[in-house]
Parts: sequence; structure tokens; C-alpha cells
Amino acid sequence: MTQNPLIKSYQDIFNRLSKAVSQGEKISLKFWEDVESQLIQLEHYTEQDASRLVQSIQRDLSETRQVLFDAGQAIEHWLEWDMQVVEEELSNWVKIVADPSTVDWLFLKQQWEQSTQYQTGDSIGIGKIHCIRCGQLITFSHTSIIPECPHCQGKDFQREPIF
Ligand SMILES: [Zn+2]
Repeated sequence: MTQNPLIKSYQDIFNRLSKAVSQGEKISLKFWEDVESQLIQLEHYTEQDASRLVQSIQRDLSETRQVLFDAGQAIEHWLEWDMQVVEEELSNWVKIVADPSTVDWLFLKQQWEQSTQYQTGDSIGIGKIHCIRCGQLITFSHTSIIPECPHCQGKDFQREPIF
């Protein structure tokens, strides 16, 4: 099985995040800066690629939290909405986004309020996005790289709301 290095890095960062959250570490700007500089120094990412990857994760976290909590929807409802989501994968996300105190959510929200678009080549965790041009839905049940739209080859997507 060949694995895109971007996916592996995404998962590594996600695991690190899970661990930090479970240990009560405060996830704020410093955490993200540390992750970014490690990507550059240890994994030889360019500054641009490192920051793009970190931003993908921040955006997924922020949006997953909004879908699960701010929208006032029960987790059960979300599960029903997307049965393809692997339960274990989802529970890992829930553990992180359910915590209002550990992660600096305001920072993430401010960061992503204006920019919720996804593009071909971005990494993404779990979720469902639709093509802005033709509306085609694509579902992700594990960390993936966003492909071109299979219907119209569009490259711009938005996360699908649950309503
Ligand atoms: Zn399309």
C-alpha cells in the first residue's frame, strides 16, 4: 500500500494532538507553531507546504466542532447522517472537538471563519464536501487528499452542512 506522505504527516499531527488533549495540554498558537517548525526541520517540508498542512488540520477541527456542537446537532444525528464514517475515527475526533477548554477554539474559529473552502490537493480528515461548481458530493471516512471533482473536474469544494 502506498501512502501519500501528506496523509501520514496529517495522521502524525492528529495523533500528537489527541495525546496533548488527553494530557490536558493547552492547544493554542504555540502548539501549531511547534508542529509547523518540526515539519520543516525534521520532515523537510517547505514553509509553504508545512503551513498548508497545519491549516488543513486546523480547518477540519474548527469545522468538525461547528458541525457537531455549534450547530446544535447531537452526535448521534451526525452518525446517522454519515454512516460511512468509521466509528473509531469519529470518536477520536469527538474526543478533541468535545473539549471546550483545552483547545483555543476562538483562535481556530477566527482563523477559519472567512475561509471554509477546500481545494483539490488539500488534505482532509473525516467529512463530506460538495463541489462548488456542480454540487457533486464526496465523502471522506479517513484522512485523504481531496481529488478533482469526479463529475466536472472542479477543484473548489465546501463542507456539506448537516441540515
Ligand atoms: Zn463538480
